[in-house]
Amino acid sequence: MATPESPAAAPRTSNINVRRGEPLVVVEHVEKHFGDLHVLKDINTTVNRGEVVVVIGPSGSGKSTLCRAINRLETIDSGKIAIDGVPLPEEGTALAHLRADVGMVFQSFNLFAHKSVLENVTLGPIKVRKLSRKAADEKAMALLDRVGVANQAKKMPAQLSGGQQQRVAIARSLAMDPKLILMDEPTSALDPEMINEVLDVMIGLAKDGMTMIVVTHEMGFARKAADRVLFMADGAIVEEATPEEFFTNPQSARAQDFLSKIL
Ligand code: ADP
Ligand code: MG
Repeated sequence: MATPESPAAAPRTSNINVRRGEPLVVVEHVEKHFGDLHVLKDINTTVNRGEVVVVIGPSGSGKSTLCRAINRLETIDSGKIAIDGVPLPEEGTALAHLRADVGMVFQSFNLFAHKSVLENVTLGPIKVRKLSRKAADEKAMALLDRVGVANQAKKMPAQLSGGQQQRVAIARSLAMDPKLILMDEPTSALDPEMINEVLDVMIGLAKDGMTMIVVTHEMGFARKAADRVLFMADGAIVEEATPEEFFTNPQSARAQDFLSKIL
């Protein structure tokens, strides 16, 4: 959250966009097991402010676990994850603040089924960011407009198409003014004709300078919007390259094999 400190006193902890390009997410030597299964193996990466990182790789390679670890939905066995210079908190208020600062968009939308579209977007800002109802409503309507579903605000999520629901989910995470948005296969559950309406919103966010980590099989999005591609296989980051480098000249056999199957 933005804190009223003087830039001269503490430039490295303020939360303003002029710091684009500085490290926002730092992942160092992260290890994770599920029982005997080694799902994250010495993961190291840094995501800078304003950067769009696309994570790709075969099913079961640890992409979701990495995203969930960055949002502390999953614990790690060892290593370090820090966001904006602060190590991930274990629990309590600090964890609630982290979750507010790190938006998460899931494959399955995860909207609150018993709340209207508008309430889905206003709930967090009212409860966590302490906005008034009026301010939260105005902000939510502006965001719903931005993702193209303002005319659905009074409906319940089940009355919307999958593409509309996912755009509401994106608006809901934006409403918290997150430092970072993690998206885990945001278009994988959508009918093909709805994929582009969601990708267009994501491309717009990327252009606006939102820091994003996106797990996706949409190579068009990766080519258009990604600054960097992380290719994961068997729990490890096998390649890290610009989309152009990665798609035209993948270095590892694993990546070549993966690309030959999906392209
Ligand atoms: P991806 O998102 O790349 O498909 P995941 O991160 O979901 O991969 O999973 C990595 C591996 O960890 C898979 O083998 C998966 O079955 C396993 N896994 C994921 N979550 C759990 C869990 N909660 N308990 C046990 N195994 C899990
Ligand atoms: Mg996954």
